[in-house]
Amino acid sequence: MITINKHYKKLQTSYLFVDIARRVSEYQRQNPDKHVIKLGIGDVTKPLPPACIKAFHQAVDEMADEKTFRGYGPEKGYSFLRELVALHDFKALGAPISADEIFISDGAKCDTSNFQELFGSDNFVAIPDPVYPVYLDTTIMAGRTGILYEGRYGGVSYLEATKENNFIPALPEGRVDLIYLCFPNNPTGATISKKQLAEWVAFAHENKALILFDAAYEAFIRDKDIPHSIYEIDGAREVAVEFRSFSKSGGFTGTRCAYTVVPSTCRAFNLDGEEVFLHQYWNRRQSTKFNGVSYPVQKAATALYSIEGKRQAKELVDYYMNNAQIIRQEMTSLGYDCTGGDNSPYIWIDGKSDSWEFFDMLLNKAGVVCTPGAGFGHCGEGYIRLSAFNSLANVTEAMERIKAAL
Ligand code: PLP
Repeated sequence: MITINKHYKKLQTSYLFVDIARRVSEYQRQNPDKHVIKLGIGDVTKPLPPACIKAFHQAVDEMADEKTFRGYGPEKGYSFLRELVALHDFKALGAPISADEIFISDGAKCDTSNFQELFGSDNFVAIPDPVYPVYLDTTIMAGRTGILYEGRYGGVSYLEATKENNFIPALPEGRVDLIYLCFPNNPTGATISKKQLAEWVAFAHENKALILFDAAYEAFIRDKDIPHSIYEIDGAREVAVEFRSFSKSGGFTGTRCAYTVVPSTCRAFNLDGEEVFLHQYWNRRQSTKFNGVSYPVQKAATALYSIEGKRQAKELVDYYMNNAQIIRQEMTSLGYDCTGGDNSPYIWIDGKSDSWEFFDMLLNKAGVVCTPGAGFGHCGEGYIRLSAFNSLANVTEAMERIKAAL
């Protein structure tokens, strides 16, 4: 008899964005003439930078010619891309990461969840609340939690991020082995200082824990003092894996390219308490289960590091950050407490009401889609997230509509 993974039954009814899509399509059915403005899901709207398109086309032409055609690529990704990543994204920050510590992948979403596969099922996982829902859902799927009770899964250490702690969770008090951190944070937009991050690194050393650091929004950091990478912190190489993505920084959500950094010195422990190095485990996992990112896509990502590619990607990010500033200013002037939007593309707004109610109100009165904070965790209740990923015209119109509706 084929039996199902029983842990899937513990998952809440549907993934957040599926729920939103259902409500939006119902609204559209009832209001077929209304132009709905989506400031909900964090998906980019502008096309790929021209430098990427050019490189993409050239690579496709190479695939069309027997002399330059390529079959299976190197499992970790092509070295032409990994070398540039190491140089521009880490060495330039003074972070000691080399090209062979980088694994090119098709997304931070898959990597942040697949990485759990390397660990025993009895590890305790710490997950920020609120945060990108994938960490919790995949922890549940992997059987590392108990059941849901009063909004919390048993066995999970929730790292609460609230107004009181400026959305930077305190260090856990009980035992934790695997710690997810996400900065700049989705959804709160909060960022972490070097001093605060150093405390997490020290905690991981003291507790023989591992940090999975999701820096998918690193490109949106504006303040000079905010760390872009956990490897800017001394000692992080031993206790942290970092996830990055070209999805938001280069408009690659539909093209798919990201990378994960697993330093050669990053350790976990075997059952005898001896150190084992995660690099070789992740390499083994990826080379068995992952087919790599296509050559044209890696070429397109490589173009993001050229002089014109860097300029064009910065223009993209600046464009969204201008939207973020408008959203934050308008919502603040309407009397709402906001965070984010200064070093992140998300604005986290205290809606002073149930977050799904606020969602329905914005949809029904303004035809604007936000993301209800409750979908990101218990501590997100009462908040909504607005995303800067849209056209300036849509953001401006959405703000006009919200002003009129409120
Ligand atoms: N990490 C965070 C925090 C995200 O918000 C997202 C997407 O919204 C991802 C990862 C997914 O990145 P990718 O498109 O590379 O899978």
